[in-house]
Amino acid sequence: MSKQSDVIIVGAGMVGLALALGLQRLGLKVRVLEKTLLADTQHADHRVSALNLASERMLRHLGVWDLIAARQPYRQMQVWEQDAHSRLSFSADELLQPALGHIVANQAVVEALFQALQSSGTEVRYGCEPLQIEASAEGVSVRLEHDTLQAALLVSAEGAHSRLRAHYHFPMLEWDYGHTALVATIATALPHEACARQVFLPSGPLALLPLPDAHHCSIVWSLPPQEAQALLALDAPAFAHRVSVASDMVLGMCQLLTPRQSFPLRARMARDLLRGRCLLVGDAAHTIHPLAGQGVNLGLMDAAAIIEAFARLPSGSQWDGELAFLQPTLRWRKTEAAQMLAGMEGIKQLFATGGVVPPLRQLGMAALQRSPALKRRLMRIAMGLDGELPLMARGG
Ligand SMILES: Cc1cc2nc3c(=O)[nH]c(=O)nc-3n(C[C@H](O)[C@H](O)[C@H](O)COP(=O)(O)OP(=O)(O)OC[C@H]3O[C@@H](n4cnc5c(N)ncnc54)[C@H](O)[C@@H]3O)c2cc1C
Repeated sequence: MSKQSDVIIVGAGMVGLALALGLQRLGLKVRVLEKTLLADTQHADHRVSALNLASERMLRHLGVWDLIAARQPYRQMQVWEQDAHSRLSFSADELLQPALGHIVANQAVVEALFQALQSSGTEVRYGCEPLQIEASAEGVSVRLEHDTLQAALLVSAEGAHSRLRAHYHFPMLEWDYGHTALVATIATALPHEACARQVFLPSGPLALLPLPDAHHCSIVWSLPPQEAQALLALDAPAFAHRVSVASDMVLGMCQLLTPRQSFPLRARMARDLLRGRCLLVGDAAHTIHPLAGQGVNLGLMDAAAIIEAFARLPSGSQWDGELAFLQPTLRWRKTEAAQMLAGMEGIKQLFATGGVVPPLRQLGMAALQRSPALKRRLMRIAMGLDGELPLMARGG
């Protein structure tokens, strides 16, 4: 049996579900397909994300911000190089904001969006992935195990390893970051005081992100794969000891609370975001180094921009035969992704370089710390207060 929708979104991560909710609110018939079983999604990922103000505004606009369980605002940020004196610090007070951003569990955002979609009657099918894709009179035909769905637009929100991206042969620009990220939750002797911290070690950055318990942090430690393997092989107390030392004991002795997860890091950017009737969003379109915590913020802005492109269509217009109206939005999103990828590479290279660079880097950090106006400018961009933003992510 064949069923018709306007849009089929493959992948029920944060970006796919946010896009589904926004399009559903415009009156489009949307279906979401997720390969993981609903019962398994709760245990799949311990990752957290630092959501910036632009993402918060978007999620508020969609009516889900208050449904997100256990958000931890961070009001300060500290960045430093291991064993060095210069330290960059940022505070929400300097920007007259209540917080610089929020640390949220990815799964809590997914659950809030799923709850809102369920209340709106939108189908999210778990344990289900496309088996075959074909062009059809209606646009695209997606064969599943038990039925076939038709839609005018197919969206891959499948994350970094998108199968649809491969199926449609999207040309990609990609390179290896030479880093694996280790993620875990730790308990710390000292309270985090709502401060997000990141220390740059010669091998890569270690972030300590504050969680709702004043003594709990989520760590993201990016380092070369062999070193990551060696850390994974340590027992829990030895690993926690290494985290305490690597972070200059900034929060005292640490204890490991969860299993460690590892994520190989690779930069990816699709050269086109639309091929035929398939559109890429979120990590399916671009993956960036987590050192500035911007990946999902970028993906949510993709979703917001696409929702707005649909919202701008004159009412009653027949868009299903013609997707050209999306092109200006997609060019903008590609430029944003390219700028972000270049920025992350620049920061990564800057902190990886030895020789005469470290003393200059220290001088630069000290100079930046003494330039409140420049610091404010950088923070406003990272928070999504400045720059070109979709309407629903803007303030005022
Ligand atoms: C260690 C680490 C730390 C990070 N920290 C931050 C941070 O602090 N801030 C930030 O902004 N970003 C951060 N990021 C990036 C962020 O996690 C990603 O950008 C974000 O998860 C991407 O969301 P997504 O919805 O596009 O994809 P995903 O979260 O990967 O979701 C994709 C979904 O699609 C499903 N799927 C895949 N293939 C199929 C298929 N064929 N059929 C059906 N379903 C399918 C998957 O099961 C999954 O549910 C971090 C990334 C890493 C690796």
